[in-house]
Amino acid sequence: MEFKSAATKDGNSLQLKFSGSIDEDTTFPAVDLGGVNTVVIDLNDIKAINSVGIRGWLDWIRPVAEKAQIQLVNCPKAMVFQFNMVNGFLPPGTVVKSFYVPFFCEKCDKESNVLFRVGQEVVVNGTDLKINVDAKSASGCTDADCELEMDVTEAKYFQFLKRA
Ligand SMILES: [Zn+2]
Repeated sequence: MEFKSAATKDGNSLQLKFSGSIDEDTTFPAVDLGGVNTVVIDLNDIKAINSVGIRGWLDWIRPVAEKAQIQLVNCPKAMVFQFNMVNGFLPPGTVVKSFYVPFFCEKCDKESNVLFRVGQEVVVNGTDLKINVDAKSASGCTDADCELEMDVTEAKYFQFLKRA
């Protein structure tokens, strides 16, 4: 799926919405950071990222992060994996505001992605994480005998939140 980006500027905040796949065909936008102190990147519609895409992301994001604070919102699982695995994928100062956590219901044989907002569904206190989520209602899996389980290893998936 073709990569697309859309930008809107709101005062000193630049909002970018990325969609599609981040790969060898991806051209990241040239961003004008004049007067901008925050860059909010909405990753909700990113479908996939491959190794070439990872390199492109690193080259693009590093200089942006030197000039503005980057905030990432609505991060899908494919991106969260990179947060945890790729050194520098989240440059210093970058804040992840919200990300999806996959849950699986055995009864319905269905995966649901539940949005976790940092400070709400997940609260970070040093290396301590507190999860406050009603996965059943968040996923719409509401039968009495639905049982939702996190479909990732919690200690690994949330690792990026614990970096100093
Ligand atoms: Zn269910």
